[in-house]
Amino acid sequence: MSALTDLIYAGSNAVAGLTEGAVNDAIAKHGADTPVAFPDTAYFFPTIYAATGVKVKTLGDLPACVDVLKSLITNEDDIGKALNAGLATAVGAEIIEGLKYLDGANPYENESGIGFVPDPIIRSLGVPLVTGDIPGVAVVLGKADKAEDVAAVVKDYQSKGILTFLVGDCIEQAAEQGVKMGLELRVVPLGHDVTSVIHVVTVAIRAALIFGNVQTGDLAALLAYTKDRVPAFVNTFGPLNEVVVSAGAGAIALGFPVVVDQDIGDLQVPGALEYEGDHGETVKRSLALRNIHIKVKELPIPVAFAAAFEGEIIRKADMKVEFWSSKNTTCELVTMREAGQVEDHKITLVGPDIDSGEVEYPIATYIEVYGAKMQKDFESVIERKIHAWFNYLEGVMHTGQRNQIRIRISKDAWEKGLRMRHFGEVLYYMIMDEFAAVVDKCQVTLVTDPDEAARILKEEATPAYNARDDRLASMTDESVDQFYTCTLCQSFAPSHVCVVTPERLGLCGAVSWLDAKATKELNDAGPSQPISKEGCTDPVKGYYPDVDRMVHEASHGALEHVSLYSIMEDPMTSCGCFECICGIEPMSNGVIIVNREYKGMTPTGMTFGELASMTGGGVQTPGFMGHGRHFIASHKFAAAEGGPARIVWMPKELKDDVAPRLNQTAKEMYGIDNFCDMIGDETIAEDAETLLTFLTEKGHPALSMEPLM
Ligand code: SF4
Ligand code: ZN
Repeated sequence: MSALTDLIYAGSNAVAGLTEGAVNDAIAKHGADTPVAFPDTAYFFPTIYAATGVKVKTLGDLPACVDVLKSLITNEDDIGKALNAGLATAVGAEIIEGLKYLDGANPYENESGIGFVPDPIIRSLGVPLVTGDIPGVAVVLGKADKAEDVAAVVKDYQSKGILTFLVGDCIEQAAEQGVKMGLELRVVPLGHDVTSVIHVVTVAIRAALIFGNVQTGDLAALLAYTKDRVPAFVNTFGPLNEVVVSAGAGAIALGFPVVVDQDIGDLQVPGALEYEGDHGETVKRSLALRNIHIKVKELPIPVAFAAAFEGEIIRKADMKVEFWSSKNTTCELVTMREAGQVEDHKITLVGPDIDSGEVEYPIATYIEVYGAKMQKDFESVIERKIHAWFNYLEGVMHTGQRNQIRIRISKDAWEKGLRMRHFGEVLYYMIMDEFAAVVDKCQVTLVTDPDEAARILKEEATPAYNARDDRLASMTDESVDQFYTCTLCQSFAPSHVCVVTPERLGLCGAVSWLDAKATKELNDAGPSQPISKEGCTDPVKGYYPDVDRMVHEASHGALEHVSLYSIMEDPMTSCGCFECICGIEPMSNGVIIVNREYKGMTPTGMTFGELASMTGGGVQTPGFMGHGRHFIASHKFAAAEGGPARIVWMPKELKDDVAPRLNQTAKEMYGIDNFCDMIGDETIAEDAETLLTFLTEKGHPALSMEPLM
């Protein structure tokens, strides 16, 4: 037998023994009927569920899984079979980790790792993964000889936007070297035991179920999905034992190459298991193995610039200066000009720089662009990116938009020399990079002078915001002559298509009709293609021949018909990264809406995660539909079923958030005042009966509408 298969089997057999022992002990101690579950998932023990279709709910379900696990370990001298044994190790790790959550315990509460990753987080990663904002997923495991080495690798991944999961002592090593961690910073510590690596494996596996419409029990489709669509890889640091090797075999079976830093000589399998002794080369080698190309942005600024810093929070104690609309004038404006009015790459500061000794400053960020193909509608599309770009600066935090913003600059960034003109450079370079197709020239004026900032706000920005709001308000599905597809999510959900209209944004909430229109202009053959509105066959349900044609084509034949405005009949498909999901609530003859952030129960008896698992992967599920937050107050929401008057329940946070617009819509459509007061939430009812009593008291319109079913 080869040395490699030997090692894999040794590890798998060891894990199988441990797993069997742990399951037997747990049953002996707690009883076979004791429930066991990972938190906040609709996919049970995801690896077992995906591979076999078995729904583990109690300890008594586990012995059969252990038998399956053992059957995967054939001890035959064949590398393919040995990789299956690696999958057995994954199943064993899942069971061992799952047992830690017995009795609703949170075993990671006092750990430096986070353990199991809940479904909503995976859904939230959909968009950054498809846009390439997160270009890949790294798993860093073990303990390096030198802490600096592992920290340097992790920071390098972070600066490239790679989502990095840490397992083992490298967590402390990275922390001690100053690596900032957290999901929002794209460095996620999982746990210390090697079994905690399963928590990243199940992310990939659930991605296949959530986005890929992979059917449970179809192991071949599962492995094809993870290999082709999840751009993950593994780096191990320090000595390898057989358990690590067999876990690595599991990774390879899923299609994730492994780079080790120990010389394993002829155990190497080119393309799958490779040795790289020089830690300075680890990142390059790993990215090459997964064919991940990173566009390097060389900006003339003294701090790092990467999407990974987007979620960085700067506390008051760490802050050097602040621009905040509550204290001073602030505004951001992108405006289009004639060719002669814009001097390319001119960056001007009007007022003091941020080293004048003050802590608080006003700011007007005034950007003038010219482009032969520039359109007025694209101003706001560019302007909204300011938020992301400023956040990409390490040591800068930006919130809000337009004239309601807050920017903080950290002491650290300031000490590195970050000043106003660098913000101008960032804006210039990013606009010229991302909007090259429509912007030919760009000049940036940054104003910290209070009078001039106030003038720009009053004379330039406010009128522009008002004009835009008027345009948006007048923009209806009827007032435009085409809609757009968005197929960005197809890299994860191969047959999913969003149809984006003025009144219905993409279900991720990130793509409005204007965005899609700009995308088409920026990338002619890209993910957004126009759909003609000609020959509408049903304006109420929203049936258009060209929608059907485009959806049929873009879904590669998976879909025949899609209605734009019905939940019950040919509803739009969902990829998985939707902000909200709506579902019918039969007892009240209405629909409930749940947002991804809501963790509690709903009157349908299902959580967000459970509702979400009813649809996704590009399939149509009448009665359940993913959508964006903004769609809730649209006149077109469930228009075929009577419109937003069908909404009977939402989590309170969501209801409060949409209330101003939804109340206005309900007033316009039905003449109802304060409609949101008639809608239930978790403080009113978490079950259908209580909800019905409440709705009856309030005289909710859904009760007297046509039966939904
Ligand atoms: Fe994905 Fe639809 Fe959003 Fe496009 S609009 S990114 S397809 S969810
Ligand atoms: Zn999506």
